[in-house]
Amino acid sequence: MNRFANFCAGPAAMPTVVLERAQRELLDWQGKGSSVMEISHRSADYIEVAERAEANLRKLMGISDDYAVLFLQGGAALQFSAIPLNLMNGGTADYLTTGAWSQKAIKEAERYAALGLGKVNLVAAGDGTDVPDVSEWQLSDNAAYFHYCPNETIHGVQIFDTPKVNAPIVADFSSCILSEPVNVNDFGLIYAGAQKNIGPAGLTIVIVRKDLLDRASAFCPNVMNYKNQFDNDSMLNTPATFAWYLSGLVFEWLLEQGGVEAIAVQNRKKAAMLYEAIDGSDFYSNNVNPKHRSIMNVPFRLADDGLDKLFLEENKKAGLLNLKGHRVVGGMRASIYNAITPEQVAALVAFMKEFEARHG
Ligand SMILES: *Cc1c(COP(=O)(O)O)cnc(C)c1O
Repeated sequence: MNRFANFCAGPAAMPTVVLERAQRELLDWQGKGSSVMEISHRSADYIEVAERAEANLRKLMGISDDYAVLFLQGGAALQFSAIPLNLMNGGTADYLTTGAWSQKAIKEAERYAALGLGKVNLVAAGDGTDVPDVSEWQLSDNAAYFHYCPNETIHGVQIFDTPKVNAPIVADFSSCILSEPVNVNDFGLIYAGAQKNIGPAGLTIVIVRKDLLDRASAFCPNVMNYKNQFDNDSMLNTPATFAWYLSGLVFEWLLEQGGVEAIAVQNRKKAAMLYEAIDGSDFYSNNVNPKHRSIMNVPFRLADDGLDKLFLEENKKAGLLNLKGHRVVGGMRASIYNAITPEQVAALVAFMKEFEARHG
């Protein structure tokens, strides 16, 4: 078997032991004579899987009973619509943009504002290398919510401190959920596609404060309506059962690793190794303000982009995969989610040094 170090931004690497367990359980899950994929989501057996996954996510993140935890489909991108449809409620929605994903989120909200659901206010716009200083933010009074993206996956820009605003905070945690401890009580709503730092594509986690469940627009489709999904245990229609099960296995794995606190220490170390290698060389560079450099997605450039192709060819030979940067920013990007080990990052750093020695 040949599993490479996979630095893909998403769908991304999963822990090998989790995949091995899924493999063992695939054909005959828990002696039931069928795969977990092949049973009804309404069966007692499946409901136990679903409930255990939720309970473990609540444990990992310290989610109180004041919050609903939903296991939905449609990806984070569908939430760009679901959020205004559920929460705008005739008010003004504040959006901070710091990169590609928060820009997409505000675009979608503007569509609903144009249809009369409310107003959208751009609080401030970053350029993809930094976060506008709080002194420049134009917050509205009594905003329906404040939306931001704590980790911009494409630009590698992260906001580590939760913004201090009065409105309920809505945050796109797709690429940083479970990477570091967060105080869920600071948020109105947290959402994340599973395929970056949790598991397979097809599942979207929404953690929403229960007092926000009562303000959906009449235009909100039933399956996108948080209250309806909450009242139906995220099973208003058929959920992504296998993705939910696999995510549950990842939650169990994470608890075995010591939880979010322990993995956060490792994540900080991994990121430091890479940024030190980049900063310690004239051959590699990263142009994000060091205070906002992502610990999950590390974009970097080679001094001579004529060498990009060779760099990618050679690191593939070295067992390092998917380091090509997003086309919007170019260069390289190493996504170092929870499932990436410090040894894999060390191998990447060693490769970078060796490549520089030969071509720098
Ligand atoms: C990947 C990503 C998305 C889009 O997720 P989908 O599940 O493909 O819709 C949105 N926001 C962020 C921050 C992402 O990293």
